[in-house]
Amino acid sequence: MLKTILSRTHLLRTFEPKTASSFYKLQNPTRTTRGVCLGFQQNIRMASNSSDTQKDVKFEDIVEGKVQSPAAYDFRSDTVTTPTPSMLQSILNISIHGDDVFSEDTTTNDLESFIMSLTGKPAACFVMSGTMGNQVSIRSHLTQPPHSIVMDSRCHVFNYEAGGAAILSQAQMIPVKPANGEHLTLEEVKDSIIDSDDIHYAPTRLICLENTINGIIMPLEEIKKISAFAKEKGIKLHLDGARLWNVVAAGGGDLKEIISYFDSVSLCFSKGLGAPMGSIVIGEKEFIGRVRHFRKVLGGATRQIGIATAPARTAIDEIFLGGKLTRTHELAKRLENSWAKLGGKLKFPCHTNMVWLDPASVGVNEREIPIEAKKAGLKWDIERIVVHHQICDDAIEKLEGVLEKLVENAKARDGTQSQELPRMARYSRRVDQDLA
Ligand SMILES: *Cc1c(COP(=O)(O)O)cnc(C)c1O
Repeated sequence: MLKTILSRTHLLRTFEPKTASSFYKLQNPTRTTRGVCLGFQQNIRMASNSSDTQKDVKFEDIVEGKVQSPAAYDFRSDTVTTPTPSMLQSILNISIHGDDVFSEDTTTNDLESFIMSLTGKPAACFVMSGTMGNQVSIRSHLTQPPHSIVMDSRCHVFNYEAGGAAILSQAQMIPVKPANGEHLTLEEVKDSIIDSDDIHYAPTRLICLENTINGIIMPLEEIKKISAFAKEKGIKLHLDGARLWNVVAAGGGDLKEIISYFDSVSLCFSKGLGAPMGSIVIGEKEFIGRVRHFRKVLGGATRQIGIATAPARTAIDEIFLGGKLTRTHELAKRLENSWAKLGGKLKFPCHTNMVWLDPASVGVNEREIPIEAKKAGLKWDIERIVVHHQICDDAIEKLEGVLEKLVENAKARDGTQSQELPRMARYSRRVDQDLA
């Protein structure tokens, strides 16, 4: 039975099933050329800590809980988490492999139903990534151009989705910079929407919010006001809720209540929840019908995708409902305090699992971050520190040591101004790259 399940998935083809408790083994690490498999292997290589001679971590050892996750010392993002033993085990527990294009994959249908009951929305559709979730949502809300979307200038849709809304939805994006440095307000939204039939303009048909944004929680009261305003104007409201789990875990509102103010929400499984992949879009039935259509267009309708939706379900149970996000928020607070003791300021308030240092506030040269981090056996690249559920206590202590070292270096330079890195360095920079 095991062999049948495993042989039906590209993901696991190069692994050989052994026993139920240690169920696969890398047969030949040098010849794992299949995409996903190679991806996993590279992830593990990239994230393996402390030594320059990077070692492979065996999947069977992770499954058996014998080794610490290689993400334990990696502060670059909460996407670097590796699947937990129970997530990997859940793939083996799939009972029926149906075809999700026919809506016959029971594992995927179960996940979608579970999300509907958890969020109170009448329909749900699993998608490959957060980007796909946002893009199919935007495309499904909009109809005939010209049209425009109002959003926070710092948001993912505007900055990190390769201009997708312009490509796929022919939409003009209107980025708005929040004056309070934290979140958009109703007044700013009112000032920014295009509410006119005048032929010079592209009328606003959609508002996109993001919560958390840069780890910041958007106040429920503001969401409520924007939602009421959008309804009154007949403008749709979408939430990029990649990290909405963190909002709920931090006491920023009830999941069902927050979601009730939006026409659609995209939720991510592969960030803080630590699943290997996937997001989900929720909304009204008719809307989700269109989402399924556009998901197909983008090549995101897949077959026996239970291999992804099973660990996604486990991730909700284990990490979100299991309360594991709370520790990540506490550790972020601890790091915020350590930085404050060194005289450092933050770029954004620390509400959840991110600490945004302001390196210039204590003369720290941002370019030294990955270099000092590497010396301490850590992976950390820019002024943003992200804490995820696999970060270990030792890594936190080491990071505090790095913070001290960075400030010491700054003092030794005495007054020399640090140079800020270009904003777009975030996604193009790699830890191993030569930064000297
Ligand atoms: C990561 C992220 C996304 C995109 O998710 P991918 O799975 O990387 O495509 C969307 N929105 C926000 C807020 C994110 O942080």
